[in-house]
Amino acid sequence: MFKKIGLFIVIVIILLIGVMAFNTFTNTPDTLVVEVVEMPAIDIDAVTMRLSEAVRIKTISTGVDDPPASAEFDRLHLLITSSFPLVHENLKREVIGGHSLLYTWEGSDPSLPPALLMGHMDVVPVEPGTEGGWEEDAFSGAIKDGAIWGRGTLDDKLSVFAILEAAELQLTAGFAPKRTLYFAFGHDEEIGGENGARKIAALLEERGIRLAFTLDEGMVIVQGIMPGVEEPIAFIALAEKGYLTLKLTATTEGGHSSIPPRTTAIGKIARAVSRLEENRFPAALKSPASDMFDALVPHMGLPLKAIISNRWLLDPLLVSELGKGGATNAMVRTTTAVTITEGGTKDNVLPSTATATINFRLLPGTSIEDVVAHVTDVIDDPDIDITVKQGNEASRVSNKDAEGYRLIEKTIQETLPDVLVSPGLMLAGSDSKHYEAIAENSYRFLPMRFGPEDIARVHGTNERIFIENYVEIIQFYRRLMENTGG
Ligand SMILES: [Zn+2]
Repeated sequence: MFKKIGLFIVIVIILLIGVMAFNTFTNTPDTLVVEVVEMPAIDIDAVTMRLSEAVRIKTISTGVDDPPASAEFDRLHLLITSSFPLVHENLKREVIGGHSLLYTWEGSDPSLPPALLMGHMDVVPVEPGTEGGWEEDAFSGAIKDGAIWGRGTLDDKLSVFAILEAAELQLTAGFAPKRTLYFAFGHDEEIGGENGARKIAALLEERGIRLAFTLDEGMVIVQGIMPGVEEPIAFIALAEKGYLTLKLTATTEGGHSSIPPRTTAIGKIARAVSRLEENRFPAALKSPASDMFDALVPHMGLPLKAIISNRWLLDPLLVSELGKGGATNAMVRTTTAVTITEGGTKDNVLPSTATATINFRLLPGTSIEDVVAHVTDVIDDPDIDITVKQGNEASRVSNKDAEGYRLIEKTIQETLPDVLVSPGLMLAGSDSKHYEAIAENSYRFLPMRFGPEDIARVHGTNERIFIENYVEIIQFYRRLMENTGG
């Protein structure tokens, strides 16, 4: 009997290894070959000068309560109008919400649903105290070492200007779109987009417009961050995580510290925080993070390839490994980050209240309500009041098999042939969320090439774009316009 069971186990193990090996070695890249398209040359000096000039204009978004500097936006609008005369002549231009711009490039075939390309004209300020760390002043637009330097060169004036450069070049070449194209350039993305993107989307909705897709900033081309993949990868984000800030307030009796009660307000908050850190949200590998692995695994090496090719068996192992990293953890989990605690003002006085502010980033599929329920449950303390300070839900997950995604993917393959394409999940937020109601699909991708250290330049010190890459971005948009139907 024992012999029989032993034999059975051996057979099962052999079969299992066989299936796993089969799954691993048949997981090869698609051999679909897209031909590289040689785009006509660009006047590199001219496009460089225009972006450099745009960087010098201080369209800074400081805070929700700080109105944007009108004069600076007026200057930027003037620069745009004078730099792109054919765009100005041939496209309808509307100013919305004070300083946002909406361009309509009427297509010849009204049966094709329109597409909307996005960017934003505002930038974040330079964090006080970090000015000295800049190799070139943040608003100099300096051209040095093959790069354009300053705020907006990565986030996100480059995308506004690259789209306009591409349109101007296409108009010069006599291109006329079949599909109506919209360009939407917000002026307050960095503070939520309430006056810009939200109002543009509301106006389009009022006009009964349904978009095939939107393309906004979001993910980029990265190299050297995905273990086992050497090629640069273009991540087209299908979704963005939600954002929620909760404030916890513990209230107890105050009094003198010489006769303290058993539990204090600060003690209660400390307990709540510690319980939340111990009880993280469960991790799970779901779309779009799972789509990313599906797309990239054929390019990976062992042992990762074997593990991901056999998710039917090894999923718990994979999810637990991903949950240990920083960025990979954020892809598989709604994250919890305690950002502020307050309580107490004097050595010998017990504060009657103490607070903690906690920032959550929600995976698609987890709602604000779910998070509040989880927090209430985990803290389990009636003396702690939980209030929502700020929040927006995670986006929907866009379709990676839809026409819009395929057009973007094809455009990348045609103009950036060294790059792999993969779906992705954006961990930060963008203006795209405002268009959800009127867009079939929303994609978030800009073909900037990032090494491991470049992400810190976004909203950070020494923001700059290599001119060579900027030219690639213009060519990408130019080809995309053709691919959407010309
Ligand atoms: Zn941005």
